Amino acid sequence: MTKAIHIGSVRIGGGAPVSVQSMTNTDTRDIPATVAQIRALTAAGCDIVRLAVIDEDAAKSIAAIRKETSIPLVADIHFDHKLALLAMEAGVHALRLNPGNIRRHEDVKTVVREAADRGIPIRVGVNAGSLDRARYREPTPENMVAAARDHITLMEDLGFTAIKVSLKTSSVTGTIAANRLFRTKYDYPLHLGVTEAGTLRSSLIKSSAALGAMLLEGIGDTIRISITGDPVEEVIAGRRLLQYLSLRDEPMVEIISCPTCGRTTAAIEDIASELERRTAGLRVRLTVAVMGCVVNGPGEARHADFGIAGTEDGSFLFFEKEQAPVKLARADTVDFLMNRINAAANR
Ligand code: SF4
Repeated sequence: MTKAIHIGSVRIGGGAPVSVQSMTNTDTRDIPATVAQIRALTAAGCDIVRLAVIDEDAAKSIAAIRKETSIPLVADIHFDHKLALLAMEAGVHALRLNPGNIRRHEDVKTVVREAADRGIPIRVGVNAGSLDRARYREPTPENMVAAARDHITLMEDLGFTAIKVSLKTSSVTGTIAANRLFRTKYDYPLHLGVTEAGTLRSSLIKSSAALGAMLLEGIGDTIRISITGDPVEEVIAGRRLLQYLSLRDEPMVEIISCPTCGRTTAAIEDIASELERRTAGLRVRLTVAVMGCVVNGPGEARHADFGIAGTEDGSFLFFEKEQAPVKLARADTVDFLMNRINAAANR
């Protein structure tokens, strides 16, 4: 079992449930926009939010952002260790430092001493793209772990062990190999992610492959699925991945939809997508089946909590267990389903 750390109220490692993180993509200095995005991430089920701290104003903004939000906040620091000091003064719950670009050990020590005084954990975030190339020519698993070791040793020498580590590359196999190697040497909790994973489709495939493989081996204590786009998607993807791996069991709406085929009588892609979007943040345990025909559709639709199956004239039949089916015009189908889903959520 890994060591445990606490980021605000969230326990990471030590057998705690794997947590889901994301990162805002607003300008941290724009407090209203950042608060709004943190609230959206929280509503989607995020456990921890990271903020880019690009200058002193961004660091100081954390104080106001913290007052308006309830979720633990992590300050992401590159290059300038003074920003880490300011972020801690502003009340941030944790830090992420990049060993590749805060190289002066004296600077790191100053941050570590302050973090120790304040009881703030630090993530050593090693990224293949920002590895210190003077010391490590290639981002091999061995070099990634060695880069983490530099900072870990420095922290341990100061008696600091509230450490979490990430080893991220944009390669699925490279990320898995680096994290596996790390786990053979250290028992600090691991933050998993594939960096620069791309837009939604690429990231879902890469992240699910890499994180899925590691999580099933028992490697990984907290995750971020990096997606180019709305960070709320990262949270939805992270929660679903943990759900599908049976690592978390939280109320959520699962949309089951058939792949469609030559028997399809009603197009369902737009309906399934809209339902997925509108139910993404709902905390209720429901399955909703969206099926393209009445050959195989009704069986699956009745098996779910709610279901629809396309009919010959392009309309839908709505099923709720063994009750008599209700015919729905295509245009009314999503709203009808959402009414039933929301009623179940508010029961
Ligand atoms: S439910 Fe009907 S439309 Fe969908 S894949 Fe099965 S047979 Fe084809």
